[in-house]
Order: sequence, then structure tokens, then C-alpha cells
Amino acid sequence: MRKKRRRRLKLLNLALLIGLAVLTVTLIVGMLIPIKQTVFSNNFKQAVNASSFTNNTNALIESLKTQMLDSWQQEAKEKGVFEEIPKRYQGVTLNSVKPNQSEKIIALTFDDGPWPKYTEKILDILKENNVKGTFFVIGQNLKNFSEIGKRIVSDGHTIANHTWHHWYHKMNSKTAAFEIDATADLIYKTTGVRTTLFRPPGGIVSNGPAGYASSKNYSVIMWSADSIDYKRPTVTRLLRNVTRASKPGGIVLMHDGGGIRDRTVQALPKMIKTFRKQGYKFVTIPEMLEIEDKQLASISKK
Ligand SMILES: [Zn+2]
Repeated sequence: MRKKRRRRLKLLNLALLIGLAVLTVTLIVGMLIPIKQTVFSNNFKQAVNASSFTNNTNALIESLKTQMLDSWQQEAKEKGVFEEIPKRYQGVTLNSVKPNQSEKIIALTFDDGPWPKYTEKILDILKENNVKGTFFVIGQNLKNFSEIGKRIVSDGHTIANHTWHHWYHKMNSKTAAFEIDATADLIYKTTGVRTTLFRPPGGIVSNGPAGYASSKNYSVIMWSADSIDYKRPTVTRLLRNVTRASKPGGIVLMHDGGGIRDRTVQALPKMIKTFRKQGYKFVTIPEMLEIEDKQLASISKK
């Protein structure tokens, strides 16, 4: 008699435990994946029906967890993180936007990484100053320094395409396509981001990759303020190069890879300070396009 009651008590505890665990997992996963909840909850119901409460508790919880994680990962894999670019900029080449006068926005962009030391230092500075930037990465560098590439994204910056080899010469269509597609694939495989932003090496738009990128609806992003940091100017000069050419809606070009970038690293905190003093707000390229797109849309409505 007592044995039976104890057994029942044990079963009750077990049921409670399962209920609690299921609730916890549901809550956590529910918070993590708002995507396609119907699919998820169907899987969930099936899982609960299939396993009666007499089954081993741990096995049940484990199988639920696995199912949830699987469907979550599968969905994330299918969809990727996609920063959609407004339609009016798809297949378009631009070097700045023209926001309303009230919007003093500027985009800091960094080319040729990811690269040890420099990219990492720049990421540290951006983090300290709570600034988000845009990194146009080279495929073969991302392959070699994938952890730094991942950090670009996990720190909240935008990652974008700067070809695989950084070639300047004229390319046939097959090579041009490889330069874009292989880099885009690796960005996706490394960071989960699907990018449709491209910057041509050397700003050359006539040697193949930029044309291919446009045909695939990429936005080809040039710049309006060149730091000319690749010539390794003094910090003062570098800053002057940038501030002289800067305006609201402007895009600043700097480099975090492909050479010695100490000057860029040294100049960056001062640059951020100067822009902030002038009332500028830092945005990523997708944010910048989004802001102008909304403004243009509201004007055309009027
Ligand atoms: Zn470059």
C-alpha cells in the first residue's frame, strides 16, 4: 500500500518535472525563435504524443531538445540572417545618400579584412565607442581569419562583399562571378549573413565583378570621403582627409587589412570624437539606405 503510494508520488514528481522542463525549454526556444511557430508547435505536439509519460524522463527531454534545436537550426540555415536592402538601391551604384538636413548620419566603412591585429583593434575601438560600422571583407582573408570575421558580425557590424582575390585586372564573366559568389558563400557559411552589398576593389567598376554584382541586384557601395589611409599619412592628415570630404549621408573609406594600418587604428578614436562633436550619428550602410528610403517614400506620398 505504502509502496504503491510512494510509486504514485514518484510518478507525480516525474510528471511535474517533465512539465517544468518542457515549459522551460518551450519558453527558451520560444524566445529564441519567433520564426514559423506553427511548424515548431506541430513538431512539439507530435513529440509529446509519441512519448508517453512512462518513458524515461531524460530521454524524452533530450529528444524534445534535439527536435527543437534541429528545426531551429534548419530554419536559420535556410533563411540566414538577411539584411534586406530597399528595392530602389538594388543593382544600383552609389557613393552617398542625401538624407534630410535633420539627419546628420555618416557611415564608417573598412575594407580588405579580416586581418589579425588591425581588424581586432578597430573592433575594440568601435565597441568602446558604441559605434557600428560596415566591413567589406576579402574572401580569402575571411577563409584564413574566420574567427575575426565572426566577431565582426557578433559585435553587431555589417559584413559585406569585397571579392575573393581583390584583383584589379579585367576578368571574364566566369571569374567575375566566382569573385562575388564564392565570397558571398563563405560570408554566409562563416557568419550566417547573406549580404547583397558589394564594394569593388580599387573602386573599379568596369573589370567584371561590379557588373556581375549589379546584375545580381547587389548594391555597389562606393564612398564619398576617402581617408587615403593606404598611403599611410600622419594621423592629422588622415583625419583631415576624412573631415574635409564629409557631409551628412556620407560614406567614409578606411582599411582594416591588406597592409600596415596603425595610422587608421590611431586616427579612429579621434575621428569618432570629431564627428560626434559635430553632431553626427554613426550608421551602417543598410541603416543608411533604410533611412533615406523611408524619407524618399514619405516625400513621394505627399
Ligand atoms: Zn580593397
